[in-house]
Amino acid sequence: MNFCSNCGSANIVIKIPEGDNLPRFCCRDCIAVHYQNPNMVVGAIPVWDGKILLARRNIEPRKGLWNLPCGFLELNETVEAGAMREVLEETGAAVILGPLQTVFNLVKAQQVYLIFTAKMLNSSFTTTAESAEVKLFSINEIPWDEIAFSSNTFALKAFIADLKMGNNNVHFGTYKQF
Ligand code: ZN
Repeated sequence: MNFCSNCGSANIVIKIPEGDNLPRFCCRDCIAVHYQNPNMVVGAIPVWDGKILLARRNIEPRKGLWNLPCGFLELNETVEAGAMREVLEETGAAVILGPLQTVFNLVKAQQVYLIFTAKMLNSSFTTTAESAEVKLFSINEIPWDEIAFSSNTFALKAFIADLKMGNNNVHFGTYKQF
């Protein structure tokens, strides 16, 4: 951080504020403390007739690979509304959300995924600016070698295992490479 977003000053230092226990960007001119925290990525596993809706990414990163509709939560938005918005933006599908299905930590990327189960309201979906292709996959057709993100692979594997067992669990995962 080069400039204070509160007062515009360049007089920024990294220090542990009084009563805190981690270093923060602190402005010496207006005494603002600039906390930085992880971002939430919200999305869903849209299902229609026992098949899972995936989108082929038309944007970087991982352009060309398949993913569940997921994206960053916006300000002033609930996680549920954000998940439904991402499904609509990436696949054109209207859904009702079911229970939370996956919480996935990407510690070094400073992200937390929240993925819900979802039922599509009808069979309609479409390509979008963000998705070059949108397709329903039976659970035996999931393109495992072409899934864009480890969080999605984790959620899909857990979801399919639950489906086979008739379970409806919440799964907690953490990206292991870091
Ligand atoms: Zn300031």
